[in-house]
Order: sequence, then structure tokens, then C-alpha cells
Amino acid sequence: MISVLRIGHRPYRDKRITTHVALVARAFGADSIFIDTHDDKIEETVHSVCNRFGGNFSIQTGVSPMKIIKKWEGSIVHLTMYGETVKESLKVLDTKKDLLLIVGAEKVPPQFYDIADINVAVGNQPHSEVAAVAIFLDRFTNQSWEHDQFDGEMTIIPSKHGKKVISTDDNKK
Ligand code: SAM
Repeated sequence: MISVLRIGHRPYRDKRITTHVALVARAFGADSIFIDTHDDKIEETVHSVCNRFGGNFSIQTGVSPMKIIKKWEGSIVHLTMYGETVKESLKVLDTKKDLLLIVGAEKVPPQFYDIADINVAVGNQPHSEVAAVAIFLDRFTNQSWEHDQFDGEMTIIPSKHGKKVISTDDNKK
């Protein structure tokens, strides 16, 4: 089980980027996302993607990060440019254990640096939580996300040209 915990989400400002964090988490092997601030719009967007493209990804907004963290029984990783390298972190993390992956939006309070089992940097340059989640999950899952089956109403067939999409509606015809 892999969950992402998004902290410091500001609906008026972070709507698109938090949606992207959720969609990237889903596509790259996470099972769920928790977002600290309540946001109906993001829940709606993510449910709509899940309904069309399948999978069992879940989203919960308006959660208390500390409650989630206290209940969590697996590893806790906080993504920050100040952290340990991904390579070194993978030497100490047990990839078979559940993972809670914390990412910030605005400035992350110091207690999250302390509570994490490990702070991990995807390079020591400031960039984006979307890129950090994608690259970390790719490495943590050893690219297993590439074989995930979502079995949705819509399945995209890889294609060099054009768009090939199978929809369950086509199968009913
Ligand atoms: N200014 C904020 C601070 O000082 O905490 C960070 C803003 S940054 C755009 C938002 C989030 O992206 C961070 O909280 C972190 O989770 C993630 N992030 C940005 N650069 C990163 C990096 N190089 N490695 C890992 N995570 C990174």
C-alpha cells in the first residue's frame, strides 16, 4: 500500500498542481492520496478520472495529517530538496512495507522533517512536487507501475500515430 499525503494545500492557489500530484500518484503506483484541506473540486476530478480509466485509487480531503501519520504502520518518507539522495534512501527503505509519501505545497513545518523516517531529495534543487512524486515512485516501485492494469471503461492502446482507445461501450455494441 502506497499513500501520498499532501500538506499545505491551498484550494485557491494549488488546485491544478494538487490535482496533478493526485493523478501522478495514481498513475505511478500509489493506492490513495490524503489532502489536508477539504476540496470538493479535486475529489470530483479524481473520481471522474478513476471512473473512466479504472483502478482502485482513493482520495480523501480535509484530513488531519498528524492523525494519518500517527495511525500509519509503514514507512514515512518526506520529499524535500534538503533530504537524502533517492539512491541512499532506497538502501534503507524496505520497499515491501507500506509507504506514506509526504509532499508539501507552501513551506513545510519542521515537525514533518522530524516525524519522517527519512527526508528524501529528488536532486537538491528546488522544483516541483509533481516531479518529485513521479520520480520517487518510479524508483521506489522499481518501475512496476508500468505493468499496472487499471481495467477502466477506457483503455488506451499505445500507438505511434493517432489515438487508439477501447471503450467498454464499444464492446457492448
Ligand atoms: N518553499 C517550500 C518549502 O520551503 O518547504 C517548498 C515548495 S515546493 C514547490 C513544494 C514541494 O515540492 C516541497 O514541499 C517538496 O515536497 C517538493 N519538492 C520540491 N523540490 C524537491 C526536491 N528537489 N526533492 C524532493 N521534493 C521536492
